[in-house]
Amino acid sequence: MRSDLKAPAAWAPVSLVPHRDGTFSHFPHLGMDRAKPGAIMVRSSGERFCNEADSYHDVMRALFDATPPGEQPGAWLVCNHRFVRRWGVGRVRPAPFPMRPWLRNGYLKKGRTVGELAMACEIDPASLEKNIQRFNEQASRGSDPDFHRGETPFNRAYGDPEQKPNPCLAPLDGGPFYAVKIVPGSLGTFAGLATDSNARVLDRQSRPIPNLYSVGSDMASIAGGNYPAGGCTLGPSMTFGFIAAHHACGVPLGSNDVPSVRVDRRQGPQAGPPSASGDTSPSASGRAAIGVTT
Ligand SMILES: Cc1cc2nc3c(=O)[nH]c(=O)nc-3n(C[C@H](O)[C@H](O)[C@H](O)COP(=O)(O)OP(=O)(O)OC[C@H]3O[C@@H](n4cnc5c(N)ncnc54)[C@H](O)[C@@H]3O)c2cc1C
Repeated sequence: MRSDLKAPAAWAPVSLVPHRDGTFSHFPHLGMDRAKPGAIMVRSSGERFCNEADSYHDVMRALFDATPPGEQPGAWLVCNHRFVRRWGVGRVRPAPFPMRPWLRNGYLKKGRTVGELAMACEIDPASLEKNIQRFNEQASRGSDPDFHRGETPFNRAYGDPEQKPNPCLAPLDGGPFYAVKIVPGSLGTFAGLATDSNARVLDRQSRPIPNLYSVGSDMASIAGGNYPAGGCTLGPSMTFGFIAAHHACGVPLGSNDVPSVRVDRRQGPQAGPPSASGDTSPSASGRAAIGVTT
């Protein structure tokens, strides 16, 4: 196992969607609500802690950093009526979908004023009012000196191009106000098995273990536990799956000489004759295995 990674997982803000049978499902807030103009994320102290339009991983890292030791990491995604009807928030869809079921089951909290919303969410009311007022003054000028929201192409891609001058910033003015509780979630793990450039699993002495390959979530993050961009988990999964399959079959990368598959309608796929190309695989049985599953 690699234990030198910056983060063990691709963190994501999620909300817990209640079901009638008492269970919950997870809604990942990947960017379609929190980056839009007119929403902010705050902790129970009433303070913002991040650039809400950054990647889900960076938003969660900021939440972990801002959470005092011993406190459960959590936040609220706060917006107003106009925002919910225009964009939706979490599982609550925009107009014309009804909001009432989400208020009834407690997923969506509501207050006619900021203070009332704060009480419903157990957020410090004076602090929330002060911070929303500060945010509104800056957002109406299109600036966010605290967290620089909307200053990168990544931020702006998730904003509203019609919102000028900053596609990610608008004041939260005019109630009623709403909030959804955010808790830490994960889209997949970065922690995993150490591998070499052919996706072979390495032992404690960093030697490849014969016939053992690892890709996807089981393989340690090739980005060292960082989140460089979207696709940083699926991209390496596909790439190293491709490499591992070639290596296991003894087929050089870039070769067109791949094992053929003969399909017998009665018996299913059969591996074709072994490739005559240079065999660097640990065993020829790899060919048959890949041939059958191709
Ligand atoms: C909401 C969401 C959005 C995402 N978006 C992106 C994205 O945009 N780009 C990106 O790169 N990545 C994204 N990811 C991450 C990506 O989906 C994962 O990295 C990827 O699916 C991992 O693939 P995997 O095959 O290693 O594992 P999985 O996809 O988790 O597959 C493991 C399989 O094993 C099965 N299994 C588990 N235990 C057993 C058992 N004991 N016996 C038999 N079967 C078992 C499971 O049922 C599952 O089918 C996203 C993840 C989520 C949750």
